[in-house]
Amino acid sequence: MNTVTVRVPAKVNLQLAVGPARDDGYHDLVNVFHAVSLFDEVTVTHGAPDAKPGSAVLTATGDRPSRTAGVPLDHGNLAARAVALLARETGVRTGVRVHLHKAIPVAGGMAGGSADAAAALVACDALWGTGVPTARLVELAAELGSDVPFPLLGGTAVGTGRGERLTPAAGNGTFHWVFALAEGGLSTAAVFAEYDRLRPDAPEPEPDRELAAALADGDAHRLGAALANDLQRASFSLRPGLAATIAAGREAGALGAIVSGSGPTCAFLAESAPRARELAAALLESEECAETVVAHGPVQGAVVVGRS
Ligand code: ATP
Repeated sequence: MNTVTVRVPAKVNLQLAVGPARDDGYHDLVNVFHAVSLFDEVTVTHGAPDAKPGSAVLTATGDRPSRTAGVPLDHGNLAARAVALLARETGVRTGVRVHLHKAIPVAGGMAGGSADAAAALVACDALWGTGVPTARLVELAAELGSDVPFPLLGGTAVGTGRGERLTPAAGNGTFHWVFALAEGGLSTAAVFAEYDRLRPDAPEPEPDRELAAALADGDAHRLGAALANDLQRASFSLRPGLAATIAAGREAGALGAIVSGSGPTCAFLAESAPRARELAAALLESEECAETVVAHGPVQGAVVVGRS
């Protein structure tokens, strides 16, 4: 085998409850991740045999030019760090070429970089035939970042700790989403810093039972009402235009409207696939967003879609 391609989903947070800053700077979270049908693809190919062990040569393309803007093509790329970590773990000594095809917005609050890292772990494990058990891949993913384990699993899952300790959530049915993509990203670190400034007295994060019940019942109306993101105020503070995007989606009939993660992508829940398409058209007409994506969830996590 010379090449492996892995498809990996973006996430939206259905609940993001953020506790006070800990002494180590991290925050305790209750983070309900939900994988949606907006996918990056990561293709890995054997590199030069004399390359540095575990080194990755990266290239990237995107559905639109903005999908690669600001994506580092060196060791700063999370996918390259994933390759190096798995090479160390397995003792593989060859280099690898990694091509990212990105549909997930960059710095958009949909964990695109984390998704690519998860995909790189799965792709290199398949390319090298190293057979690392999924449970170990999840541990390696957590070393790379708190959002990296989830795209390995997909579906809907509750993350606690820094968000990296995952428990699958009971769920039924499919939910239909519209994502309003913003121009330019928001730095996750900057949004957390703004949150700390606005909420120095944040309480300990608690899971929301109503949200869990809505998910278990597959009830989009209840889920829409239960969506909650503690970071939303901080995202609005850094990007005031987002409040108008959320208002436009509500006015157009969204069952729920929320900033995705640290933003600036906004997520809107619709009753059905046709309603999602109508909602997307209404959002574009409102001129509060330049681009929309219609997607559904939950979908499965990183999966091999091509080998040659
Ligand atoms: P999260 O929701 O996990 O906070 P995000 O979706 O807001 O993340 P990413 O798209 O993961 O943000 O990108 C954040 C930053 O990470 C980018 O601005 C970029 O500098 C860097 N980065 C590293 N690797 C990647 C990658 N594979 N794809 C995109 N950005 C990457």
